Amino acid sequence: MSDCIFCKIVAGEIPSHKVFENDAVFAFLDIAPLAEAHTLLVPRRHVTQLDQLTADESAAIGAVLPKLAAAVQKITGAAGYNILQNNGECAGQVVMHVHFHIIPRNGADGLGFRWHPTKYAPGRDKAVLAELQSALKN
Ligand code: 5GP
Ligand code: ZN
Repeated sequence: MSDCIFCKIVAGEIPSHKVFENDAVFAFLDIAPLAEAHTLLVPRRHVTQLDQLTADESAAIGAVLPKLAAAVQKITGAAGYNILQNNGECAGQVVMHVHFHIIPRNGADGLGFRWHPTKYAPGRDKAVLAELQSALKN
């Protein structure tokens, strides 16, 4: 896509600190890292959200993500890491080319959470489950 910054990075039209590439995916350092070695993994093809990936693209991402996570954790010595993947503006997505953040965690990183669990109304969990199972059949 011509006006997509990540498409331009994948194509080498604008510079990036490339971490890894193969014929399906491209990984590079985030320009505004939440911690050192914060890395982004993207499919080469422009799609906006995770659900638009093909099975092959998903498999290619799945094959690389654990290796990248291991490398990020190893070189940073982080106690852990988050894989963050935002879909849609309401979910915090700013760049509309699907991407996975690999964010090493330590005491002084820039990531925070707001996580307020709720409860299902009686019977609602079963209704939601039936809807989901039905949607998966299509
Ligand atoms: P989002 O909020 O869409 O999940 O995250 C987009 C990420 O892309 C941000 O962490 C931001 O720092 C990173 N980013 C935006 N523009 C560029 C760029 O031109 N180069 C690199 N390397 N990262 C970028
Ligand atoms: Zn793109």
